[in-house]
Amino acid sequence: MALYSIHRDELDKLLESPYLRAKLRQMRYLCWHHTYQPRQNAFMMSLLGLTGSGSWLSAFRLNDYISPDGQYKHAFDSIDTYHRLVRGWKNGLGYYFGIEGDGVIRFGKRWTNQLVGAHCKEDSMNVISVGIALLGDFGGDKKEKDKWEKPTLAQVKSALALGAFLCELYNIKPIADNMHYHHDHAPYKSCPGYTIIERPEIRSLLTLGIKNTMVGRSLDKNAKKLHELLSNA
Ligand SMILES: [Zn+2]
Repeated sequence: MALYSIHRDELDKLLESPYLRAKLRQMRYLCWHHTYQPRQNAFMMSLLGLTGSGSWLSAFRLNDYISPDGQYKHAFDSIDTYHRLVRGWKNGLGYYFGIEGDGVIRFGKRWTNQLVGAHCKEDSMNVISVGIALLGDFGGDKKEKDKWEKPTLAQVKSALALGAFLCELYNIKPIADNMHYHHDHAPYKSCPGYTIIERPEIRSLLTLGIKNTMVGRSLDKNAKKLHELLSNA
C-alpha cells in the first residue's frame, strides 16, 4: 500500500475514511525525529537491488527533494520501502507521520489502523507517543558537518500544524515535557539532529508555536520565528 499525502490545511481529513479506520489509541507525547539515509546502509540497499546506480544515497538528501518549481517528491515512499524490505517491518513506515521537504505530510498504515509505531523502542515510546519525522539531516554525524541541513519553512509550518492537530486530538498538553526527541530516550542516537537537540531554545519555541497554533494565533508568524532560529544554528 502506498503512503497517503495530506496538506497541513487539510488535517481534519485525517479523521475521515480512508484516513482512519481504527479507534484512536491514547497517545501521551509527540516524539520528533529527522530521517535521512545513513551511509552504511547504501551498500546493503544496492545489494538488494533497491537502488539505481547509487542514487539511493543522494535520494535522501533534503535539498534533492525540493525541485526549483516547488514540486514535492516522495522521499517517504522510499523510506517506507526501506523499512519494509531492509528492516523487515511488515507495517512499513515506522513513523506515524513524515514531513517531506516541501511540507507535505505523509502517513501510512500505522496511522490509519492505529498500530504501534517503530520509531523509538526505548521507554515504550512506540506505544505511547506519535512518531513524527522531518526529512533531512539536521546534524546526524559530527564528522559530516558540511552535509548538515536545515528544515525548510514549509516543513516547520507543517510541524506546527500537525503538532497542534495531534495535541488537540489526543488531549496532549502543549508543554515542553510532552515534546520528546528520539535522543531523549535513546542518547546513543543523534536524532533529530545535533543542531536541534543541543539548543534547548528550539524545543521551547516548538512548544510555544504549537500552543499558539492551537489557540488560533498565526501559524505563519510562529513558523517563521522557529525557522529563523533553526537556520541560525
Ligand atoms: Zn529518530
